[in-house]
Amino acid sequence: MPTPPGPSRTPLTFDFASVQPLAAPAWLLERAGAMGIEFDKGDVEKLGLFLACLLEANQRANLTAVTEHDKAWERHVLDSLTLLAVLGDLPDGATVLDVGTGGGLPGLPLAICTPHLRFTLLDATAKKIAFLDATIARLGIKNCTTLHARAEAAAHDIGTRADAKGVTKREGAKREQFDAVVARAVGAMRVLAEITVPFAKIGGTIALIKGQKAPAEIEEAQPVLHELKCVVDQVVPTPTGQIVVLAKRVATPRLFPRIEKVNSKKARK
Ligand code: SAM
Repeated sequence: MPTPPGPSRTPLTFDFASVQPLAAPAWLLERAGAMGIEFDKGDVEKLGLFLACLLEANQRANLTAVTEHDKAWERHVLDSLTLLAVLGDLPDGATVLDVGTGGGLPGLPLAICTPHLRFTLLDATAKKIAFLDATIARLGIKNCTTLHARAEAAAHDIGTRADAKGVTKREGAKREQFDAVVARAVGAMRVLAEITVPFAKIGGTIALIKGQKAPAEIEEAQPVLHELKCVVDQVVPTPTGQIVVLAKRVATPRLFPRIEKVNSKKARK
Protein backbone atom coordinates (compact mmCIF):
# COMPACT_ATOMS: atom_id res chain seq x y z
CA MET A 1 0.00 0.00 0.00
CA PRO A 2 1.40 3.47 -0.82
CA THR A 3 2.44 5.41 2.25
CA PRO A 4 0.60 8.70 2.49
CA PRO A 5 2.77 11.47 3.89
CA GLY A 6 2.15 12.50 7.50
CA PRO A 7 -0.41 15.23 8.11
CA SER A 8 0.78 18.47 6.50
CA ARG A 9 0.10 21.49 8.70
CA THR A 10 -0.23 24.07 5.95
CA PRO A 11 -2.16 22.50 3.08
CA LEU A 12 -1.86 24.12 -0.32
CA THR A 13 -4.73 26.33 -1.40
CA PHE A 14 -6.19 26.15 -4.88
CA ASP A 15 -8.11 28.69 -6.92
CA PHE A 16 -9.71 27.29 -10.05
CA ALA A 17 -11.93 30.30 -10.90
CA SER A 18 -10.24 30.86 -14.27
CA VAL A 19 -9.72 27.19 -15.20
CA GLN A 20 -11.59 26.11 -18.34
CA PRO A 21 -12.68 22.55 -19.26
CA LEU A 22 -10.34 20.26 -21.17
CA ALA A 23 -11.79 19.38 -24.57
CA ALA A 24 -13.10 15.82 -24.83
CA PRO A 25 -11.38 13.52 -27.33
CA ALA A 26 -13.32 12.54 -30.46
CA TRP A 27 -13.53 8.89 -29.32
CA LEU A 28 -15.12 9.59 -25.92
CA LEU A 29 -18.81 9.20 -26.74
CA GLU A 30 -18.26 6.08 -28.81
CA ARG A 31 -16.09 4.34 -26.19
CA ALA A 32 -18.41 5.39 -23.37
CA GLY A 33 -21.40 4.20 -25.44
CA ALA A 34 -19.73 0.81 -25.87
CA MET A 35 -19.63 0.63 -22.06
CA GLY A 36 -23.35 1.44 -21.90
CA ILE A 37 -22.76 5.00 -20.70
CA GLU A 38 -24.84 7.89 -22.01
CA PHE A 39 -23.85 11.27 -20.63
CA ASP A 40 -26.45 13.78 -19.47
CA LYS A 41 -26.25 17.36 -20.69
CA GLY A 42 -23.29 19.12 -19.09
CA ASP A 43 -21.56 15.93 -17.83
CA VAL A 44 -18.77 15.93 -20.43
CA GLU A 45 -18.03 19.60 -19.77
CA LYS A 46 -17.87 18.95 -16.02
CA LEU A 47 -15.59 15.95 -16.55
CA GLY A 48 -13.34 18.15 -18.69
CA LEU A 49 -13.35 20.83 -15.99
CA PHE A 50 -12.39 18.25 -13.37
CA LEU A 51 -9.45 17.10 -15.53
CA ALA A 52 -8.38 20.69 -16.14
CA CYS A 53 -8.36 21.38 -12.38
CA LEU A 54 -6.42 18.15 -11.78
CA LEU A 55 -3.75 19.00 -14.36
CA GLU A 56 -3.52 22.62 -13.22
CA ALA A 57 -3.08 21.58 -9.57
CA ASN A 58 -0.61 18.88 -10.61
CA GLN A 59 1.90 21.59 -11.45
CA ARG A 60 2.21 22.34 -7.73
CA ALA A 61 0.95 19.19 -6.03
CA ASN A 62 1.88 15.69 -7.10
CA LEU A 63 -1.61 14.31 -7.84
CA THR A 64 -1.20 12.22 -10.97
CA ALA A 65 1.49 10.83 -13.25
CA VAL A 66 -0.94 10.83 -16.19
CA THR A 67 -0.85 14.29 -17.76
CA GLU A 68 -1.25 13.70 -21.50
CA HIS A 69 -4.83 14.79 -22.31
CA ASP A 70 -6.16 11.74 -24.15
CA LYS A 71 -4.55 9.43 -21.59
CA ALA A 72 -6.13 11.46 -18.79
CA TRP A 73 -9.59 11.00 -20.31
CA GLU A 74 -8.93 7.27 -20.62
CA ARG A 75 -7.15 6.51 -17.33
CA HIS A 76 -9.05 8.94 -15.14
CA VAL A 77 -12.51 9.32 -16.66
CA LEU A 78 -13.26 6.10 -18.56
CA ASP A 79 -11.54 3.83 -16.03
CA SER A 80 -13.46 5.45 -13.13
CA LEU A 81 -16.75 5.16 -15.01
CA THR A 82 -16.32 1.40 -15.49
CA LEU A 83 -17.74 1.22 -11.96
CA LEU A 84 -21.12 2.35 -13.28
CA ALA A 85 -21.60 -1.28 -14.35
CA VAL A 86 -21.72 -2.14 -10.63
CA LEU A 87 -23.15 1.05 -9.07
CA GLY A 88 -25.77 1.65 -11.76
CA ASP A 89 -28.56 -0.07 -9.82
CA LEU A 90 -28.15 1.86 -6.56
CA PRO A 91 -31.32 3.75 -5.60
CA ASP A 92 -31.65 7.53 -5.32
CA GLY A 93 -29.79 8.91 -2.31
CA ALA A 94 -27.59 5.83 -1.85
CA THR A 95 -24.19 6.57 -0.31
CA VAL A 96 -20.81 5.73 -1.85
CA LEU A 97 -17.40 6.05 -0.16
CA ASP A 98 -14.19 6.31 -2.24
CA VAL A 99 -11.28 5.12 -0.05
CA GLY A 100 -7.85 6.60 -0.91
CA THR A 101 -9.38 8.84 -3.55
CA GLY A 102 -6.19 10.87 -4.18
CA GLY A 103 -7.09 13.35 -6.89
CA GLY A 104 -10.75 12.21 -6.79
CA LEU A 105 -10.51 8.87 -8.57
CA PRO A 106 -12.75 7.10 -9.13
CA GLY A 107 -15.18 9.12 -6.96
CA LEU A 108 -15.35 12.48 -8.71
CA PRO A 109 -16.13 11.32 -12.27
CA LEU A 110 -18.73 8.99 -10.74
CA ALA A 111 -20.28 11.81 -8.70
CA ILE A 112 -20.49 13.98 -11.82
CA CYS A 113 -22.30 11.27 -13.79
CA THR A 114 -24.61 10.01 -11.00
CA PRO A 115 -26.07 13.10 -9.30
CA HIS A 116 -28.70 10.91 -7.59
CA LEU A 117 -25.99 9.21 -5.47
CA ARG A 118 -24.12 10.80 -2.54
CA PHE A 119 -20.33 10.48 -2.52
CA THR A 120 -17.72 10.83 0.22
CA LEU A 121 -14.10 11.08 -0.94
CA LEU A 122 -11.66 9.90 1.76
CA ASP A 123 -7.92 10.45 1.76
CA ALA A 124 -5.16 10.69 4.38
CA THR A 125 -3.32 13.52 2.62
CA ALA A 126 -4.34 17.10 3.40
CA LYS A 127 -3.27 18.63 0.07
CA LYS A 128 -5.43 16.13 -1.82
CA ILE A 129 -8.45 17.00 0.29
CA ALA A 130 -7.73 20.73 -0.26
CA PHE A 131 -7.59 20.08 -4.01
CA LEU A 132 -10.85 18.11 -3.92
CA ASP A 133 -12.70 20.77 -1.88
CA ALA A 134 -11.64 23.48 -4.35
CA THR A 135 -12.57 21.29 -7.34
CA ILE A 136 -15.99 20.37 -5.95
CA ALA A 137 -16.66 24.09 -5.39
CA ARG A 138 -15.55 24.96 -8.94
CA LEU A 139 -17.72 22.17 -10.42
CA GLY A 140 -20.67 23.28 -8.35
CA ILE A 141 -21.72 19.69 -7.65
CA LYS A 142 -23.77 19.11 -4.52
CA ASN A 143 -23.56 15.33 -4.11
CA CYS A 144 -19.94 15.08 -3.03
CA THR A 145 -18.10 15.75 0.24
CA THR A 146 -14.60 14.98 1.48
CA LEU A 147 -13.19 13.25 4.53
CA HIS A 148 -9.60 13.81 5.63
CA ALA A 149 -8.74 10.67 7.58
CA ARG A 150 -6.79 7.47 7.61
CA ALA A 151 -9.16 4.75 6.49
CA GLU A 152 -8.08 2.29 9.18
CA ALA A 153 -9.01 4.84 11.89
CA ALA A 154 -12.22 6.15 10.28
CA ALA A 155 -13.48 2.60 9.75
CA HIS A 156 -13.62 2.17 13.54
CA ASP A 157 -15.68 5.34 14.00
CA ILE A 158 -19.06 4.32 15.40
CA GLY A 159 -20.08 7.95 16.04
CA THR A 160 -21.04 9.64 19.26
CA ARG A 161 -24.09 8.97 21.39
CA ALA A 162 -26.80 11.61 21.10
CA ASP A 163 -29.99 11.62 23.20
CA ALA A 164 -32.95 13.60 21.91
CA LYS A 165 -36.56 13.38 23.09
CA GLY A 166 -35.92 10.11 24.88
CA VAL A 167 -34.39 8.51 21.78
CA THR A 168 -30.75 7.49 21.77
CA LYS A 169 -28.95 7.62 18.42
CA ARG A 170 -25.36 7.54 17.27
CA GLU A 171 -24.26 10.45 15.10
CA GLY A 172 -21.32 10.91 12.76
CA ALA A 173 -20.49 7.22 12.44
CA LYS A 174 -18.47 6.03 9.46
CA ARG A 175 -18.45 2.29 10.19
CA GLU A 176 -21.12 0.29 8.34
CA GLN A 177 -22.70 3.47 6.93
CA PHE A 178 -22.23 3.24 3.14
CA ASP A 179 -24.30 1.42 0.53
CA ALA A 180 -21.19 1.00 -1.60
CA VAL A 181 -17.45 1.43 -1.11
CA VAL A 182 -15.10 1.88 -4.06
CA ALA A 183 -11.33 2.19 -4.47
CA ARG A 184 -8.63 2.23 -7.14
CA ALA A 185 -4.87 1.88 -6.77
CA VAL A 186 -4.79 1.73 -2.98
CA GLY A 187 -2.72 -1.39 -2.48
CA ALA A 188 -3.12 -5.15 -2.63
CA MET A 189 -6.53 -6.62 -2.00
CA ARG A 190 -5.55 -8.40 1.22
CA VAL A 191 -5.03 -4.96 2.81
CA LEU A 192 -7.54 -3.00 0.74
CA ALA A 193 -10.33 -5.35 1.85
CA GLU A 194 -9.58 -4.52 5.50
CA ILE A 195 -9.92 -0.77 4.92
CA THR A 196 -13.00 -0.90 2.68
CA VAL A 197 -15.30 -3.71 3.89
CA PRO A 198 -15.89 -2.29 7.42
CA PHE A 199 -17.35 0.94 5.93
CA ALA A 200 -20.08 -0.89 3.98
CA LYS A 201 -23.55 -1.46 5.40
CA ILE A 202 -24.65 -5.06 5.86
CA GLY A 203 -25.95 -5.95 2.41
CA GLY A 204 -23.63 -3.39 0.86
CA THR A 205 -21.23 -3.70 -2.05
CA ILE A 206 -17.49 -3.14 -2.24
CA ALA A 207 -16.25 -2.55 -5.80
CA LEU A 208 -12.49 -2.42 -6.35
CA ILE A 209 -10.91 -1.45 -9.67
CA LYS A 210 -8.11 -3.90 -10.30
CA GLY A 211 -5.83 -4.81 -13.20
CA GLN A 212 -4.92 -8.12 -14.75
CA LYS A 213 -3.49 -9.40 -11.45
CA ALA A 214 -6.98 -9.55 -9.89
CA PRO A 215 -7.20 -13.38 -9.75
CA ALA A 216 -3.82 -13.64 -7.96
CA GLU A 217 -4.81 -10.87 -5.53
CA ILE A 218 -8.12 -12.58 -4.78
CA GLU A 219 -6.31 -15.83 -4.10
CA GLU A 220 -3.87 -14.11 -1.73
CA ALA A 221 -6.72 -12.24 0.02
CA GLN A 222 -8.86 -15.34 0.69
CA PRO A 223 -7.80 -15.80 4.36
CA VAL A 224 -8.58 -12.17 5.24
CA LEU A 225 -11.82 -12.17 3.23
CA HIS A 226 -12.85 -15.19 5.30
CA GLU A 227 -12.01 -13.37 8.53
CA LEU A 228 -13.86 -10.28 7.32
CA LYS A 229 -16.87 -12.53 6.60
CA CYS A 230 -17.28 -11.29 3.07
CA VAL A 231 -17.11 -13.04 -0.28
CA VAL A 232 -16.09 -12.28 -3.84
CA ASP A 233 -19.45 -11.81 -5.53
CA GLN A 234 -18.16 -11.34 -9.08
CA VAL A 235 -15.20 -10.22 -11.15
CA VAL A 236 -16.34 -7.92 -13.94
CA PRO A 237 -14.05 -7.53 -16.95
CA THR A 238 -14.03 -3.97 -18.28
CA PRO A 239 -12.35 -2.28 -21.27
CA THR A 240 -9.67 -0.90 -18.91
CA GLY A 241 -9.20 -3.70 -16.35
CA GLN A 242 -11.29 -5.73 -13.93
CA ILE A 243 -13.64 -4.86 -11.10
CA VAL A 244 -13.63 -7.13 -8.07
CA VAL A 245 -17.01 -6.97 -6.34
CA LEU A 246 -17.18 -8.08 -2.72
CA ALA A 247 -20.49 -8.75 -1.02
CA LYS A 248 -20.96 -8.05 2.69
CA ARG A 249 -23.81 -10.06 4.15
CA VAL A 250 -23.02 -9.85 7.89
CA ALA A 251 -21.37 -7.31 10.18
CA THR A 252 -17.58 -7.03 10.01
CA PRO A 253 -15.91 -8.35 13.20
CA ARG A 254 -14.94 -5.41 15.45
CA LEU A 255 -11.24 -6.30 15.28
CA PHE A 256 -11.06 -5.03 11.67
CA PRO A 257 -9.36 -3.06 10.29
CA ARG A 258 -6.26 -4.03 12.27
CA ILE A 259 -4.46 -0.68 12.43
CA GLU A 260 -1.01 -2.17 13.04
CA LYS A 261 -1.43 -4.61 10.19
CA VAL A 262 -2.62 -1.99 7.69
CA ASN A 263 0.27 0.28 8.60
CA SER A 264 3.01 -2.32 8.55
CA LYS A 265 5.60 -1.97 5.77
CA LYS A 266 5.03 -5.58 4.70
CA ALA A 267 1.29 -4.95 4.26
CA ARG A 268 1.90 -2.00 1.98
CA LYS A 269 3.93 -4.06 -0.53
N1 SAM B 1 -7.45 6.37 -6.03
C1 SAM B 1 -6.61 7.35 -6.66
C2 SAM B 1 -6.30 6.97 -8.09
O1 SAM B 1 -6.76 5.91 -8.54
O2 SAM B 1 -5.62 7.74 -8.78
C3 SAM B 1 -5.33 7.61 -5.86
C4 SAM B 1 -4.41 6.44 -5.81
S1 SAM B 1 -2.92 6.83 -4.92
C5 SAM B 1 -1.80 5.70 -5.57
C6 SAM B 1 -3.28 6.19 -3.29
C7 SAM B 1 -4.03 7.18 -2.41
O3 SAM B 1 -4.50 6.49 -1.27
C8 SAM B 1 -3.17 8.33 -1.93
O4 SAM B 1 -3.85 9.55 -2.19
C9 SAM B 1 -3.01 8.08 -0.43
O5 SAM B 1 -2.93 9.27 0.32
C10 SAM B 1 -4.26 7.30 -0.13
N2 SAM B 1 -4.13 6.36 1.00
C11 SAM B 1 -3.26 5.33 1.09
N3 SAM B 1 -3.45 4.66 2.24
C12 SAM B 1 -4.47 5.30 2.88
C13 SAM B 1 -5.12 5.08 4.13
N4 SAM B 1 -4.76 4.08 4.93
N5 SAM B 1 -6.14 5.92 4.47
C14 SAM B 1 -6.50 6.93 3.64
N6 SAM B 1 -5.91 7.19 2.46
C15 SAM B 1 -4.90 6.38 2.09
